[in-house]
Amino acid sequence: MESRIGRKLIIIAIDGPAASGKSTTARILAGRLGYTYIDTGAMYRAVTLRVIGAGLLDELRRDDSKVSGLLHDLIIEFRGDRVFLDGEDVSEAIRENSVSREVSFISSLKPVRDRLKELQQQMGAARGIVMDGRDIGTVVFPDAELKIFLVADPRERARRRHAELSLKGGCPGIPTVKDLEEEIRKRDRDDEERTHAPLKRHPEAVMVDTSKMTIEEQVGLVYDLAMQIVGQ
Ligand code: C5P
Repeated sequence: MESRIGRKLIIIAIDGPAASGKSTTARILAGRLGYTYIDTGAMYRAVTLRVIGAGLLDELRRDDSKVSGLLHDLIIEFRGDRVFLDGEDVSEAIRENSVSREVSFISSLKPVRDRLKELQQQMGAARGIVMDGRDIGTVVFPDAELKIFLVADPRERARRRHAELSLKGGCPGIPTVKDLEEEIRKRDRDDEERTHAPLKRHPEAVMVDTSKMTIEEQVGLVYDLAMQIVGQ
């Protein structure tokens, strides 16, 4: 398949732990390439929001097979920068702490992973996408032409998350850098140790440590790798 300007369309998979810079890098990169950006973390967050909204969280902890009933008519859409769940704009709601706390549990459930993998593969079928997450290069698109694994020091990731939250202006409610680091380390552990589609680097994925890099440098590096594949 080719883009309108005659370039080969590829799939770029960007995986890595929480707050390693995936979504910022993926969004800017997609814009530069004229590709579609798909934030799969937002999809897991939307399912988590649906579970919370349905009041099913406690029940699922006892019997997780009940989650299947919430998945068959699930509609998640991306419109520009916004995320819609069943037609409702949930872009802010999915970033709330109540969702962040539970998303690793919900995303560890096999029926959830199977359903979202199916949706993600449909979204990427036309290629020309940058998709970020935890299992894109390993499970969703193992044939992606470019696979990136972004990492960064947990303290640095906590600092970035703190700066991001401060910018949004929620001053009194913002957790400290130390608390955020704790939360990030816990989420890393949960994502790495789960049975289904754990966070791990595909052997072909290019490892990029962003601890000391600017956003511009991260994007530039991945953009150059992409251009080597699609041609100048
Ligand atoms: O990317 P973000 O931090 O918003 O992802 C939220 C959570 O969703 C992750 O901590 C992980 O538990 C889950 N996730 C996943 N697989 C993906 C993307 C996200 O399990 N491909």
